[in-house]
Amino acid sequence: MVAVLTDYHVHLRPDEGATPAERFFTGENADRYLAAAADAGIAELGVSEHIHRFSDALTLWRHPFWEEQAHDDLDSYCEFVRGTELKLGIECDFVPGAEARTAELLEARDFDYVVGSVHFVGDAAVDHQGWDIWDGSGDPDEVWRRYFESLAASARSGLFDILAHPDLVKVWGRAQPLPKRDLRHFYEPAVAAIADSGIAVEVSTAGLRKPVGELYPARAFAEMCVEAGAVFALSSDAHLPSEIGFGYDQAVPWLRELGVGEICTFERRRRQLEPLGR
Ligand SMILES: [Zn+2]
Ligand SMILES: [Zn+2]
Repeated sequence: MVAVLTDYHVHLRPDEGATPAERFFTGENADRYLAAAADAGIAELGVSEHIHRFSDALTLWRHPFWEEQAHDDLDSYCEFVRGTELKLGIECDFVPGAEARTAELLEARDFDYVVGSVHFVGDAAVDHQGWDIWDGSGDPDEVWRRYFESLAASARSGLFDILAHPDLVKVWGRAQPLPKRDLRHFYEPAVAAIADSGIAVEVSTAGLRKPVGELYPARAFAEMCVEAGAVFALSSDAHLPSEIGFGYDQAVPWLRELGVGEICTFERRRRQLEPLGR
């Protein structure tokens, strides 16, 4: 088998501001991303737009942020991506209580893979200042405990192929307090759920671009995953062509140091392990 690099957790447009789909879901834009991937030696490129940008998401959750953002048509997105060389993915939040509706929405489309995310704990977000979980009385032990419990539940739901940015709760780095306990205590339930479910753990270089300035997940988390026999997926969470493969010069050696020599590729939600490239 040929060694490969992947970038599966990729957005065709920025998160913020007025970014109409028509401007970004174009053959020209897809070509820009594919050219950037070719330059970076990434053979497997897929896109995974946020579920909350699609009006269909409101059948899962009616959070005010989603109500404000959900304008696009999910089937048009799928049809557009299928007309390109990109793999078809989606970044779908885990919405507790909406598991059956989420499964129905996902199974009705022929995605190559589904990236499962936890951005919200209750109504508050760990990575979004408009709905900041740290506003008011964010007790770090409580925030971290609840975040990783939700991450564990998302893995166990069986809805997703890839567990996105697994310790996103650290995104603000030193700008927010850390729990006093050893962080491995918080990782434990999530790692157990990863091992039981077999979900692929995303190594995301997005953390390198955020205040925390390190990969998702933390090294200790990744070591526990390796110990538990988990498999890994590699992505940049790019929102621009220039971010494709961002930080792979750090992430690939980091995976090798952990003893990880294979990464996951996906097609129509079937997973294969292939030798890690570069
Ligand atoms: Zn995300
Ligand atoms: Zn993303």
